[in-house]
Amino acid sequence: MGTATASAPRISKSNERALQKFMEYVAKRNQGEPEFLQAVQEVAASIIPFIAKNPRFRDAKILERMVEPERAFIFRVPWIDDKGNFQINRGYRIQMNSAIGPYKGGIRLHPSVNISILKFLAFEQVFKNSLTTLPMGGGKGGSDFDPKGKSDNEVMRFCQSFMTELSKYIGPNIDVPAGDIGTGGREIGYMFGQYKRLKNEWSGVLTGKALTYGGSLIRPEATGYGSVYFAQAMLNHHKTSIEGKTAIVSGSGNVAQYTIEKLLHLGAKPVTCSDSGGYVYIKDGIDFQQLEYIKDLKNNRRGRISEFAKEFNLPYFPAEKPWSVPCDLAFPSATQNEINEKDAKILIKNGCFCVTEGANMPSTADAIDVYQSAGILYGPGKAANAGGVAVSGLEMSQNSIRYSWTKEEVDEKLHNIMNTIHEKCVTYGTKGKRVNYVKGANIAGFIKVAEAMMAQGLV
Ligand code: GLU
Repeated sequence: MGTATASAPRISKSNERALQKFMEYVAKRNQGEPEFLQAVQEVAASIIPFIAKNPRFRDAKILERMVEPERAFIFRVPWIDDKGNFQINRGYRIQMNSAIGPYKGGIRLHPSVNISILKFLAFEQVFKNSLTTLPMGGGKGGSDFDPKGKSDNEVMRFCQSFMTELSKYIGPNIDVPAGDIGTGGREIGYMFGQYKRLKNEWSGVLTGKALTYGGSLIRPEATGYGSVYFAQAMLNHHKTSIEGKTAIVSGSGNVAQYTIEKLLHLGAKPVTCSDSGGYVYIKDGIDFQQLEYIKDLKNNRRGRISEFAKEFNLPYFPAEKPWSVPCDLAFPSATQNEINEKDAKILIKNGCFCVTEGANMPSTADAIDVYQSAGILYGPGKAANAGGVAVSGLEMSQNSIRYSWTKEEVDEKLHNIMNTIHEKCVTYGTKGKRVNYVKGANIAGFIKVAEAMMAQGLV
């Protein structure tokens, strides 16, 4: 973990000791789970000083309770590939916290998926969902299944098998999964169909559904639009604007696509996107025609960014990330730990003054120390990318009242939610002239869940 440098926010000696003791306790109980410990450490560093001043939370061991999932499932997912061979994957669902609403969080399908990654995501989700102001607890699930290179029929057979087991643990008032890396509209459709057959009922058990069967307008756009709204709020609060700024974006999936789209709407200049193969640099800024090409390439043809670079004759950098490209704003929107200390230093050296996280935990602890020491604007994922799950919450509301709101209505609600999250970060994270958005998001997210847990007694 990173050592705080001279101007990074510091905590007192006694809080430092309490944090160390707490992390030793968590590390001992969760061995071999580095991502989970990383996510907990980041939250605990903000919460321990806060509960020192609010000892009723400390005495009731609220933080110790929060790091323990209420429940977790691990299950076998057998399926048969197109050649008739048996394939075995492992499925998971972590039900982290239901104090303020049904468990809510996506399903990640990626070969890297393991218990540590899903616990970090479920833990982040608890705070993120609390910040949205909507009544949603936190959960996360997934599998080490890799949708890349699989046929539609293979993906369908996997999703049906996965849901056959998962259906025992979820429900519209229990746990409502959604998309995440590797799970998009296609996968949600197959999972929803299987759940409906098994339960003989139509219910809002999943979000991210297509519009024909209960999905919400603006849900596909929500995470990307939301992070740009959050960046806009940070910039406006600091007396500048998003217009005319050069932005680098990593990733090219759902979050990156709609981040680029909203940046274009607001007059910024997005100059990169990427996938696991490398990144492409578009000096004059991505235009709408290129964005449409990327959407079709990634969502329908399931191709690579190298193909986009080739088609438009653009410089492509294989096996590299875009962090060395000079910019004003950075939107890491691919995956966890994609920016390390060295990357963070290069970003800042090249003029970046605002990092907004579309992905979950894309910056390592050392990278965050670099941002904070430099005093740049930094919107952590649990605040900045909460727009996706917020519109999932709005999809649940629409399903419950059997109604659908217009695009404008949902977009306005999303925009208001992102501004509210920003205000909460300002309320709990301002010190002097600076807003520590990490501290603000952690404390604001914590308070609602902690109060609910206190009120509910031994939960
Ligand atoms: N996977 C998204 C996230 O990380 C969305 C979850 C949801 O909509 O439930 O927040």
